[in-house]
Amino acid sequence: MRVLVAGGAGYIGSVVTAALLAEGHEVTVLDDLSTGHADAVPPGATLAEVSLHHSAPVLADVRPEAVLHFAAKSLVGVSQQRPFEYWDTNVGGSLALLEAMRAADCRRIVFSSTAATYGEPEAVPIREDAPTRPTNTYGASKLAVDHMLTSYAVAHGFAAVSLRYFNVAGAAFGLGERHATETHLIPIALQVAAGQRESLTVFGEDYPTPDGTCIRDYVHVADLADAHLLALPAPADGEHRIYNLGNGTGFSVQEVVDAVRQVTGHPVPVVIGERRAGDPAQLVASSDRIRADLGWTPDHTDLAGIVRDAWDVSRAR
Ligand code: UDP
Repeated sequence: MRVLVAGGAGYIGSVVTAALLAEGHEVTVLDDLSTGHADAVPPGATLAEVSLHHSAPVLADVRPEAVLHFAAKSLVGVSQQRPFEYWDTNVGGSLALLEAMRAADCRRIVFSSTAATYGEPEAVPIREDAPTRPTNTYGASKLAVDHMLTSYAVAHGFAAVSLRYFNVAGAAFGLGERHATETHLIPIALQVAAGQRESLTVFGEDYPTPDGTCIRDYVHVADLADAHLLALPAPADGEHRIYNLGNGTGFSVQEVVDAVRQVTGHPVPVVIGERRAGDPAQLVASSDRIRADLGWTPDHTDLAGIVRDAWDVSRAR
């Protein structure tokens, strides 16, 4: 299939691009390189260095049969301080992309949504029918796009899937997480292990969890890529599906730190800090729906294995 990957120079987008190429798809990456890296675009894909807002000529030229849309601003803290960027890129940019798709007669899309659409959960594991009450602009902007996709499915016959990622981690095809401003736990802990940072601050150890630190659901990026390949052909015209993607097992911040120490063999000095605003105690996915509908099963559920893959790629770099 001829596909366009918006945000294919980023962490998850580049891994999925590599997976699409491995399956024989023809891939054009659309990315303005605002946070992505040109050298993360796998050889074999064509890069169009363009923002979502200016995507129409690229779609008119490429005439993709499907779009996978990863391009977004994704820092929760920044979204609270500079909301314009989040509404402009995540919502305005996505709307421009959908209109560009319509003009190019392309109606199939897989969208990177997020667990942040749910906000503070009433129950864990979180199912897709849980209330969506995002607690930050990032989550609200992603939820707006989910609503947009429902409208476009109903009005324009789009075949759409929103994949709500929990905590994506690990590496695949030699591609891992590489952000100018790193905020995620596993890459930061690995930087400490590598001696690039002095210590890791644990954001709170007084949560109502067994060891007092927050519990998250870490899903391997290779399993996530598989889910995209399964989701791509799944919806019928006029259908918008929503699937959560997680391992279904939660790991605490303390367990992650222990895994990083064990895998790297290096010390990871820890400082106990304040809670980070807006952090729920526990976020764990129920991925029953995608398992039942599409037969998706994560293969890399072992935390040490996820950390090892991330460590190997970061060291190779
Ligand atoms: N965390 C932490 N120290 C850090 C970064 C993250 O204690 O330097 C915690 C954070 O409070 C959360 C978990 O690690 O409980 C995962 O955070 P991350 O930012 O990786 O992902 P999020 O859950 O926010 O999507």
